[in-house]
Amino acid sequence: MKKTTLFLLLLLVLSCHPKQTASVGEHPQDEAGAKEAIKFTPPKNIILMIGDGMGITQITAGMYLNGNQLNLEQFKYIGLHKSYSSDNQVTDSAAGATAFSIGQKTYNGAIGVDKKGRLAHTILEEAENGGWASGLVVTSSITHATPASFYAHQKKREMTEEIATDLLNVDIDFFVGGGKKNFDRRKDGQNLIETLRQKGYAISTFLDQDFKDVIIDPNKKFGYFAADEEPLSNAQGRDYLVAACRSAMEFLSKKSDKGFFLMIESAQIEWGGHANDSKYVTSEMIEFDQAIGAVLDFAKLDGETLIIVTADHEAGGYAINATSTMDTIVAAFTTDKHTASLIPVFAWGPGEELFGGIYQNTSIYDKMRMALGLNK
Ligand SMILES: [Zn+2]
Repeated sequence: MKKTTLFLLLLLVLSCHPKQTASVGEHPQDEAGAKEAIKFTPPKNIILMIGDGMGITQITAGMYLNGNQLNLEQFKYIGLHKSYSSDNQVTDSAAGATAFSIGQKTYNGAIGVDKKGRLAHTILEEAENGGWASGLVVTSSITHATPASFYAHQKKREMTEEIATDLLNVDIDFFVGGGKKNFDRRKDGQNLIETLRQKGYAISTFLDQDFKDVIIDPNKKFGYFAADEEPLSNAQGRDYLVAACRSAMEFLSKKSDKGFFLMIESAQIEWGGHANDSKYVTSEMIEFDQAIGAVLDFAKLDGETLIIVTADHEAGGYAINATSTMDTIVAAFTTDKHTASLIPVFAWGPGEELFGGIYQNTSIYDKMRMALGLNK
């Protein structure tokens, strides 16, 4: 009996040992694991949608005030990312967007550069160089931290004129946002709008016409300036986001046989958080969800588009307090700055399987490259 027990014990130890070795130091959601474990169909197009400052509570409040439903509920693959930056537990929008664009954590304020301030190529630049078309649609200035982190390389986010100059170095096919003055009323006297036109862009501005009245020439590159500085809030009458998303997808899908990379940012959910203004947060959130609906409509017909919806960080330490109802949010804020909580990631379409789990914000870059086949 004793020998048999020993033998069984030995067998148990031997059979357990390989398993234990294999699991040591291996995080189930790390990239090496994901590459081997997850099978997916590669998408042709990627649309990355960033709700700046959009934590779980911002989504929840928008959902309740929108009849307790959102287009976002159609997404089946959901993950969480760790948003902190290389030098601060609480990231800013520059380091947050740069983590998505270059796949490295960097310091707060960095635009498309690593933590030592060195240039790193962005996913948008890599897609452009690989033959994909590219676009940016934002409700901030086009030189603001989030969009800038996809095409510019500057050590500080405040260098908006240098950031504007960087836009000329990347062949972005379609862009819509504010910030016109950084292009045509500059300290160096240059008129970059004229330079953009010389480079083959059809540029129009809010001074000429509303976005909805612009006729887009499919044979040129396209740029629209929606404001001299920052565009209005949705409540103040800014209404181009959904239309610009539709135009961008229509335009970019015909631009390259290879596909396209489009980054869409709802910038002002964050500004509502900074202002501790719940109504500002929810009206921007609901508009962003309408843009998500428009993108889903395109992707369902297209069948080859991966949509990723996430945020760079939460803003405001926003909470929905007791005495709230489905129609009334009784809000509280812990700060007028950003916070460090985990941030949701929603994925839909071919490659969506890559986005479940808990991972670093930089993994979103790795997963997008993997989806496009750029990691080979
Ligand atoms: Zn932000």
